[in-house]
Amino acid sequence: MTDPTPKKNLIGLSRDELAAEMKTIGSEPFRARQLWHWIYHRGATDFAAMTTLAKSFRAQLAESYVVERPVESRALKSEDGTRKWLMRFADGNEAECVHIPEEDRGTLCVSSQVGCTLNCRFCHTGTQKLVRNLDASEIVGQIMLARDSLGEWPSPPDNRQLTNIVMMGMGEPLYNYDNVAKALKIVMDGEGLSVSRRKITLSTAGVVPLIARCGEELAVNLAISLHAVNDELRDVLVPINKKYPLAQLLEACRNYPAASNARRITFEYVMLKGVNDSPAEARELVRLIEGIPAKVNLIPFNAWPGAPYECSSNNAINAFSDIVNAAGYASPVRAPRGRDILAACGQLKSDSVKLRRSERDKLENAAVD
Ligand code: SAH
Repeated sequence: MTDPTPKKNLIGLSRDELAAEMKTIGSEPFRARQLWHWIYHRGATDFAAMTTLAKSFRAQLAESYVVERPVESRALKSEDGTRKWLMRFADGNEAECVHIPEEDRGTLCVSSQVGCTLNCRFCHTGTQKLVRNLDASEIVGQIMLARDSLGEWPSPPDNRQLTNIVMMGMGEPLYNYDNVAKALKIVMDGEGLSVSRRKITLSTAGVVPLIARCGEELAVNLAISLHAVNDELRDVLVPINKKYPLAQLLEACRNYPAASNARRITFEYVMLKGVNDSPAEARELVRLIEGIPAKVNLIPFNAWPGAPYECSSNNAINAFSDIVNAAGYASPVRAPRGRDILAACGQLKSDSVKLRRSERDKLENAAVD
């Protein structure tokens, strides 16, 4: 017979919820604090290992609870060191999470939804129907699984491989704001995973009504998927623009509470050959963002099977970058990472069976143990 009451996962509960949960089993509030430390600082998954807790209490916890991450259903490692995990949640749905190591940092790209509803024309994830929002335990769980894989427990005070988090995986984080906010509060907690808000960036295609709230409540860095400098083109590339056009979006950026010269808003701009990459568009971009503490990330378009666009030439990308730079905005060209394992921007898609056979084989061959 199957267990009629599945054990409750403690990952994803806020501090208050964890304390309330402990109260239901007759435990003191300070126990919740110890438990928090074991779960988020030490990374323990087994109550038996939580040696500062009384044995009887550990046994009691094990009866009703689990500390459970998503299941790693596939792990790939790119030739450039980028790793991608396909993570399976309790109901069988899957999402992807990517770790990008660099010399001075390591960034984890986290998903907020299974699939996406936005249908941006150039994005692979957008060809997959939204299945559902991820809950807080599933969002935090991605980070914990990555830390398991990287061997980063207890949370190291420095020299981490995972220093930065970007909410730039599958999904639109501001369409799942409550779960994302709850998860990020857990991630930022100094007695746990302890990733500072300054090292977290939330990327949105432009859900204008939630931008201010994100700045006030979370104060994380903001990235905007801009990609076009006029409404006519942006309506096509990023269809949410029809609902929240450029003028409204830029106004929300001007008022973003957590932005400053030290913490600029990142405008992401995918370089599409002959579509949005002219010098005139670079100049218009500069005009649009005037007065916003900003930098512009130029993203060479990453192709995927059946994509309707091509990547701009290096010359076009450099010319665009020079114009933006000359106007006083940093304008780095994002080096594509993990292209060989379809881990680069816009390439994430959990339903890998839809890939052509040859591509799938290539991916399988790159699998790490
Ligand atoms: N929905 C959020 C979070 C996803 S972020 C957002 O739109 O911001 C993923 C980033 O990769 C976005 O800037 C997206 O526009 C970009 N992107 C999507 N497809 C891409 C592709 N094929 N090549 C390069 N960048 C792409």
